[in-house]
Amino acid sequence: MICVSIGRSRHSAMIQGFRQLVQQGAELVELRVDWIQRRPDIGRLLRERPVPVVITCRRLQDKGKWFGTEEQRQAVLREAILAEADYVDIEEDIAASIPRYGRSKRIVSYHNFDETPADLEAIHQRMTACDPDIVKIVTTACSAADNFRMLQLVRNATVPTVGFCMGETGTISRLLCGRYGAPFTYAAADRTGHTAPGQLSFADMKDLYRYDNVTEATRLFGVIGDPIGHSLSPLLHNTAFKQIDFDGLYLPIRIPVGNVPEVLRTYQELGLEGVSVTIPHKHAALEFADVPDDQSQKIGAANTLVHKDGIWHATNTDFTAIIETLKSALAAANRSEDLAGKKVMILGAGGVARAAVAAMVQEKTEVLISNRSADRATALAAEFGCGTIPWDSRGSVECSILINGTSVGMHPGVQETPFDEQWLRSEMLVFDTVYVPENTRLLQEARAVGCPTAGGMEMFVRQAAVQFQLFTGHDPGISEMTATLRQALQERTPGA
Ligand code: NAP
Repeated sequence: MICVSIGRSRHSAMIQGFRQLVQQGAELVELRVDWIQRRPDIGRLLRERPVPVVITCRRLQDKGKWFGTEEQRQAVLREAILAEADYVDIEEDIAASIPRYGRSKRIVSYHNFDETPADLEAIHQRMTACDPDIVKIVTTACSAADNFRMLQLVRNATVPTVGFCMGETGTISRLLCGRYGAPFTYAAADRTGHTAPGQLSFADMKDLYRYDNVTEATRLFGVIGDPIGHSLSPLLHNTAFKQIDFDGLYLPIRIPVGNVPEVLRTYQELGLEGVSVTIPHKHAALEFADVPDDQSQKIGAANTLVHKDGIWHATNTDFTAIIETLKSALAAANRSEDLAGKKVMILGAGGVARAAVAAMVQEKTEVLISNRSADRATALAAEFGCGTIPWDSRGSVECSILINGTSVGMHPGVQETPFDEQWLRSEMLVFDTVYVPENTRLLQEARAVGCPTAGGMEMFVRQAAVQFQLFTGHDPGISEMTATLRQALQERTPGA
């Protein structure tokens, strides 16, 4: 179950927000009465409650907003118990002074905003001696091991225990605590209204991560990176799980630089079977793998790790995605899909350009690299045995395929293009790897002169689809994934 936490400064807004949450499917709601800017009227808040309620009045030292005295705060909690609130949240250190009464259940809570203390079990034991119906123990994750310890604590607890870690590193414990036996987890009313660090919105918990469906049998995957909050991969993969009715959960996993091996080894103990890898861990992922495949070794970076029979396998699905995207564009233009012998100019020498160079070299094309910083182009070309073109001369090259692997044209710089309109020829196939926006200026101008085109959105979806296939053995459906991505991008960057 998900307990949705709502904080509003006025009673009327709190009651209205509460009703909206119930309409959205909330089954348990925490009313953060410390947010109300005058003495909370508990009777009014509890009247005609459509679902069970937790009354919480958090003090400043626990990052709450209560500005009255401690005596007044405890009076509010007693009043909530007398009014038969379904649950009342009572901090461990005041639990003895707020006795049990009537039907109200006691959530005895502990919060630590700095760390997950070494004596977690001792704290939990202390709390179980405070006459709780539920123990709520919430700490801050400084490492993967903190999440692991917390989840083990929840699993081994003899009293029903809601235990998870705060902060971005702790998100996975919020999502997994139910699997370990927690009676519920907490979520924010909406994406902007979180009441604790790292809290996810109710909509994301319920519809994207499908918290209530996660069981021991649910297979675990994720994306590793730093930062990770912006990643679209949880949306793509979790939506695809739902669409094909696959019992899987795809987690956002933030890992600081240098910690990839430690974190993956810890989470493999939780059952993590595979991860997508994003910036800045693609090289570390390759080094971590027990068995890196040819493609990831050629690129020098892995964007996918799969854990099978105790062995971590690495691959790079950008490689396949680039080739498939080009071939499907050639087929759509009624041209031969055989890339061998074609002259390909690749703009850029960063991560994506590198994957494109490796893929085009494997396909036996004639590759020319042009990059703003000439030294990077020269180094990449030397590594793969390709030619280079000075950045200022790129317009004079007659090639049959042009690939933009630079970030030029990406939102918000949508008016920019890495290749002037006047240099485009209708014989060229133009592939822009930029996918925000979907229709870059380069692609628009290329279509205007009659060039066949391929876009970064297709590449992004194809690399995710190959990962999905590797993780689950199922085809996610390219068109469904494309629709998910397109909608998400329209919501995140309207007008891009
Ligand atoms: P990266 O490693 O940072 O490389 C960026 C490249 O862009 C470098 O070659 C850089 O040239 C060049 N560049 C940046 N600003 C420029 C400018 N103003 N003029 C000329 N060249 C410029 O980034 P990346 O990871 O390769 O990503 C590049 C782009 O690929 C991203 O922006 C994204 O839109 C796209 N992408 C697509 C997918 C997909 O699946 N479709 C996946 C990831 C990324 P210097 O060497 O001179 O700095």
